[in-house]
Amino acid sequence: MPRLEININKIKHNAKTLKEEFAKKGITITSVIKGVAGSPEIANAILECGITTIAVSLVQDIKKMKEFGVKAEFLLTRLPMHTEVFDVVKYADISLNSEISTVKLLSKHSLKQGKKHKVVLMLELGDLREGILPEDIDSVVEQTIPLEGIELYGIGTNLACFGGIKPSEKNMAELSQIADRIQEKYHIKLPVVSGGNSANYEWLLKTDNTGNINNLRIGEAILLGRETLHRNRIPNLYIDAFTLVCEVIESKLKPSLPYGDKCQNAFGYKPEFTDIGNINRVIVGIGEQSVDTKAIKPRIKASIIGASSDHLILHVKNKCIEVGSEIRFDVKYSALLRLSTSPYVKKVFI
Ligand SMILES: *Cc1c(COP(=O)(O)O)cnc(C)c1O
Repeated sequence: MPRLEININKIKHNAKTLKEEFAKKGITITSVIKGVAGSPEIANAILECGITTIAVSLVQDIKKMKEFGVKAEFLLTRLPMHTEVFDVVKYADISLNSEISTVKLLSKHSLKQGKKHKVVLMLELGDLREGILPEDIDSVVEQTIPLEGIELYGIGTNLACFGGIKPSEKNMAELSQIADRIQEKYHIKLPVVSGGNSANYEWLLKTDNTGNINNLRIGEAILLGRETLHRNRIPNLYIDAFTLVCEVIESKLKPSLPYGDKCQNAFGYKPEFTDIGNINRVIVGIGEQSVDTKAIKPRIKASIIGASSDHLILHVKNKCIEVGSEIRFDVKYSALLRLSTSPYVKKVFI
């Protein structure tokens, strides 16, 4: 305890459902499992659904999956650091890139290792995380094409990750047209035009013209069954493939308002509380170290009052909870991320 229960069949159902739905519009899925720290068990489950490319943001997670025996095409979602290009070429088949200096280093190491590394060039279309500005893309393409050890495998974009900018008919058409233009101008075929992530769900559902876009990189929608513009449920998907289970270590009727002279708490804030009299205060054995406590929701009638590094304090309504009993929680993406990364949380596959 605490443990993260992972229902593999629910994840498989989500992956399969989305794969089939997207295929109707000519879109393949790259399954992004950085939210579960590249869990090899989850990778294998997704591969069984017929998805062939697995993506993570850390090259260490690709190494981990390979050592576990996962057989897939691996894509690295985060731009490679200059200091890790050796490993990127060694472990990843495809990487997303926006800097020609990095692409040149990838080429050098790929040649040395006798490989052909696939490069997808990322375009900036307004979200302002990674991406080459549209006016600079031709120059980067021109410099990439002649590089040895490298295949210019496609172009892509990423929206709604940082700036919250939505994939629209307009920016998707722009990506598609840029793909057209590059293919014509340089007489090349771009096998992949990757339009985005789980935030593209609404666009894909509504659009009747995906243009040249033939791929999406999907993480959260498969893992948690939601699109990511409004966090709405995607019909027919499971939103509860993951359950956090924690143990109660204290359960008492206590005041709702801390008493004594008030200064800072564990994290340097002066928290505010309202006095609502005595309440059932329940402490469970987990905290900010292992989970984003703002991104979990108890499955009993209770609200989260707050947390320190290793204690989570709940106000349990109309019920007495015994010490030693379990409380189950829904998890959102940022909670899943930290739970998956924490060595203090047991992962149980069911
Ligand atoms: C994280 C990430 C994804 C997947 O995002 P989801 O919202 O989980 O679908 C796709 N592409 C890139 C570049 C990413 O960093």
